[in-house]
Amino acid sequence: TSFNDMGIKEDVLRGLYGYGFEKPSAIQQRAVMPILQGRDVIAQAQSGTGKTSMIALSVCQVVDTSSREVQALILSPTRELATQTETTIKTIGQHAAIQAHACIGGKSVGEDIRNLENGVHVVSGTPGRVCDMIKRRSLRTRAIKLLILDESDEMLSRGFKDQIYDVYRYLPPDLQVCLVSATLPHEILEMTSKFMTDPVKILV
Ligand code: AMP
Repeated sequence: TSFNDMGIKEDVLRGLYGYGFEKPSAIQQRAVMPILQGRDVIAQAQSGTGKTSMIALSVCQVVDTSSREVQALILSPTRELATQTETTIKTIGQHAAIQAHACIGGKSVGEDIRNLENGVHVVSGTPGRVCDMIKRRSLRTRAIKLLILDESDEMLSRGFKDQIYDVYRYLPPDLQVCLVSATLPHEILEMTSKFMTDPVKILV
């Protein structure tokens, strides 16, 4: 399979090829199509497999840029990963005019508020700050259609479980969920059964 065969929009394809990607990695081949078909997806994958680009590509393809509302939310365990995901989305989405913003602890809340007010399509963040921005009503959740939980086992081991559940409660009921995790312990499976419907399972 090539990126061309996957039905990726022309401007997103330009972003991928401009980034230097010629063909999809295994996780990109197997996870992107079900996500684009609207399925919930559990992807068991480590970093280095191309999972960040898989997330960025899916998000860029799903977002409707004629709206200025947040449509996709990605939660990550660390500020570094949340920022890296934001950067990858901006790079792959540059020709598609996709606006992304990272909501992470340690950065100014005022800057988050200004960015969110200007209108972004995608938010990539850590659970604590994202939860905070939702409660302040700066991050509006009503148009969010895709939630991605990246490095979910790492998020749980860092004690973010309650904040993830808290964020989830603010999201619309017909939400699509994609969970990425290197391991699938009991607590993760508990989360998948609460958040997901008939998920496609992928092991890379
Ligand atoms: P990730 O697991 O997404 O952090 O990706 C690991 C590394 O592989 C990063 O340097 C990516 O830029 C690179 N990469 C991801 N997907 C592809 C692809 N389809 N073709 C070439 N390089 C890729």
